[in-house]
Amino acid sequence: MRKSTGSMKARVFQFKRYSVHDGPGIRTTVFLKGCPLSCHWCHNPEGILSVPQMVFMASRCIGCGNCASVCPSGAIDPKDPSRICMERCDLCGICVEGCPAAAREIAGMDATPTEVMDLVERDIPFYGTSGGGVTFSGGEPLLQADFLEEILVECRDRGIHTAVDTSCCAPEEVFMRVSRLADLMLCDIKLVDDGEMLHYTGGDASRVLDNIRLLAGSGSAFILRMPVIPGITDTERNLQLVAEFLLGLPLMPDLQLLPYHSSWRDKYSRLGLPPPEGPDPDEGLGIIRALDFLREAGVLTARGN
Ligand code: SF4
Ligand code: SF4
Repeated sequence: MRKSTGSMKARVFQFKRYSVHDGPGIRTTVFLKGCPLSCHWCHNPEGILSVPQMVFMASRCIGCGNCASVCPSGAIDPKDPSRICMERCDLCGICVEGCPAAAREIAGMDATPTEVMDLVERDIPFYGTSGGGVTFSGGEPLLQADFLEEILVECRDRGIHTAVDTSCCAPEEVFMRVSRLADLMLCDIKLVDDGEMLHYTGGDASRVLDNIRLLAGSGSAFILRMPVIPGITDTERNLQLVAEFLLGLPLMPDLQLLPYHSSWRDKYSRLGLPPPEGPDPDEGLGIIRALDFLREAGVLTARGN
């Protein structure tokens, strides 16, 4: 990595190269850690807290005991390496280095804009041929708006297309400032009813809708994305409210429906956390019927991802 002279750092929990689901073309997705929401179905629970976290993948562990032997704090149970005393662990990372099976990780590293740019620039040839670029996701990238603004300007100066994947749960002033620097905003729309949004995500639906309204009137490029969560976002009531909201915008935006994956449960156990109850996969309309419902309600721009 190139050394940065600046002191600003972002907390990142993943870099994903060759992504084709986070905006147009082939992209590098940078996942920033920390999120104001805690959705019942969160696919990236390691992105919720802004602090670094220990990750243990039991399916990879071969039970060699190296991690417990090398830990200077005696934080790992030598008889059961899945048990770690977080009061003793200072996340030094020695056990990660000492694990021969790559069964341990620390989710959350600090990186300067220059260090992130070094990683992003490695794949410039792919961006050029595919119409891709870099996407900043999370967590909620707008929680680290100062970093985001700096790196969006750097990308713009180097001709790299940028997208920001956001929950839109952010102060209006921050949301609009970032939207003016990004080439494309990927905006989540989950639930329109305030009570349901608060219950299922901890977020403020009115804040989200206000930001989307402002964006729609600003001329900035954006795509709305709705995760199809069984029985939660794909109910007829929510879809009807989404359709009514979109029909009230000055221009009908593109709406992508994102399929639900149940693999998120395993991610909670890797963090040593109990998974939330989550959705019932047998409920709701499902993505095909949700698409039909939205189109019949007048949202002709709705499509699957
Ligand atoms: S991160 Fe460091 S202190 Fe924590 S368990 Fe691993 S070796 Fe021990
Ligand atoms: S070093 Fe890795 S493989 Fe060995 S017990 Fe620890 S976590 Fe498991």
